[in-house]
Amino acid sequence: MKKIYEVYLEALKLCEPYHILSSDLRVLLAFDMGFASPIDTLYYKDKEMNEEQIALFNSQVERLKNNEPVEYIVNEANFLDLKLYVDRNVLIPRMETTELIANLSEKIYDYFDPRNYLVVADIGTGSGAIACAIKNMYKNWLVSASDISSPALEVAKKNAEKYSLPISFYQGDSLKPYIERNMNLDIIISNPPYIVNKKDVQPSVSFFEPSSALYLDFSSSVYEKILADVNKVKKGSLLIVFEIGYDLKEYIEDLCKKYLGNYSYKLEFIKDLNDLDRFAFIFLE
Ligand code: GLN
Repeated sequence: MKKIYEVYLEALKLCEPYHILSSDLRVLLAFDMGFASPIDTLYYKDKEMNEEQIALFNSQVERLKNNEPVEYIVNEANFLDLKLYVDRNVLIPRMETTELIANLSEKIYDYFDPRNYLVVADIGTGSGAIACAIKNMYKNWLVSASDISSPALEVAKKNAEKYSLPISFYQGDSLKPYIERNMNLDIIISNPPYIVNKKDVQPSVSFFEPSSALYLDFSSSVYEKILADVNKVKKGSLLIVFEIGYDLKEYIEDLCKKYLGNYSYKLEFIKDLNDLDRFAFIFLE
């Protein structure tokens, strides 16, 4: 038996040569002790850990040393006020995507009255982060979410169930599931694979996260597929919100010119907290 703080300090020392965050060690300790929050490892620092808990912790620290993201080790990621189940079938929700939601909740008033029953689709939902956050904030919106990956969709469903959020889930590529169901959408949101330069990616991301959710294949671009098919789901006004790579502004501008020529549309880019063009808001009258 050892006290939590003793186990923590030992691990911290052992982890020195590796790029391991002390906060990740606390996430693991909280998980192993069944605490609700990593902060509890401070409040209960004198609590004893049994052999089993220590063995589990040590095996998890080995995984951290091996660059595995802590979220996959504990199968949980924070996203706004949600704690989402995640596994290697889905991308771990990112800070940028919380900014996407924040920007949407600010910008929505420019385009729609959010008290209406807006029909929203989250394309490439992955863990369901965007769909769950939106349905949680706007209970009256009719939220659907889709993904080409069935295992990802299972994760998203699990998260919607966890928070009792009524969201419709469909398997399929880009707008296909909505076109097949003759749906008319008011808002399309998507954080599709957008990384162009593989050198931008950390090993913890490239080794562990699903490459199909990360890398933009220009010959099969979700952005392009959505914009090319927009006429099939648009009835009234339509707002499209994309999370984009910092280097994709011109690409998105060109796609809009190519596919939205018949519409009167407004395209606006919003920067993220790192001052990079990260969000595209496209409004079609
Ligand atoms: N923001 C993610 C990253 O940089 C990429 C997400 C995506 O491609 N949609 O790791």
